[in-house]
Amino acid sequence: MGKERLVGKVALISGGARGMGASEAQLFIDEGAKVVITDVLDSDGEATAKRLSPDGTACKFFHHDVTKEDHWKSAVDFAIKEFGQIDILVNNAGIFERGTVLDTSLDAYMKTININQVGVFLGMQAVAPHMVSRQKGSIINISSVAGLSGTPGFLAYGASKWAVRGMTKGVAKELAPFGVRVNSIHPGIIDTPMLQTFDQAGEGVREMVRSRIPLGYESEPVNVARLALYLASDDSSYSTGSEFVVDGGMTA
Ligand code: NAP
Repeated sequence: MGKERLVGKVALISGGARGMGASEAQLFIDEGAKVVITDVLDSDGEATAKRLSPDGTACKFFHHDVTKEDHWKSAVDFAIKEFGQIDILVNNAGIFERGTVLDTSLDAYMKTININQVGVFLGMQAVAPHMVSRQKGSIINISSVAGLSGTPGFLAYGASKWAVRGMTKGVAKELAPFGVRVNSIHPGIIDTPMLQTFDQAGEGVREMVRSRIPLGYESEPVNVARLALYLASDDSSYSTGSEFVVDGGMTA
């Protein structure tokens, strides 16, 4: 496969300082894209951008809290000023905090909903006018296997990820007449800093989770990045409003 699937395209990836977002940024740049990574983690974000593009011509970092509408406007303006356009939005930023219906406070619930759900809504709303005016674009919303079934202890997280899946389908139909595609990705257990919450939950929790993966191992972030690459590229031009699962068979 040639390294050319995203030549001429510009991507904005939220939560791209580390984890899956950073892996997507690396693969997109390898395939010819220019990428703006955004995050609340400034030093990690600056370091990732520098690592992926030492001269700054292919990758730039922008400070961005996805819960803030004005930050989204600034991030979109920044990407267009630096690289001329936005062809791809990856709504990747997210948090995971364990909690059941018995022990989740309203504040904790709303924190997760604001980042994981409202952040995705604001992101789609911020790029849609630009993509509609260009009559093209691909929006990739990172949901989870927790957005496909019920998971005990994932009350707020599951609610936010189901909402992402639902919004994706509705917005896909709204934007299809304008040539803009919207799809969701549903990762299983991916080895990123987010998994530290499993380690903090107690000894053996991570092994127990791993035992539920038919392929038998947690994935590296690059497997999610490869799926995001497919959805970002014109190879997926007939796919919109769909959910794409990368979970080692967990939800089979
Ligand atoms: P990660 O390593 O924690 O990366 C997520 C990034 O988003 C972090 O840098 C995080 O910073 C940032 N972020 C948090 N709140 C933000 C905000 N308000 N505005 C902007 N950035 C913010 O996690 P990951 O595993 O790569 O997760 C990426 C996406 O995949 C998330 O949406 C997650 O829910 C989803 N996902 C992950 C897994 C998995 O097993 N890892 C599975 C299914 C789905 P902080 O450190 O400040 O939080």
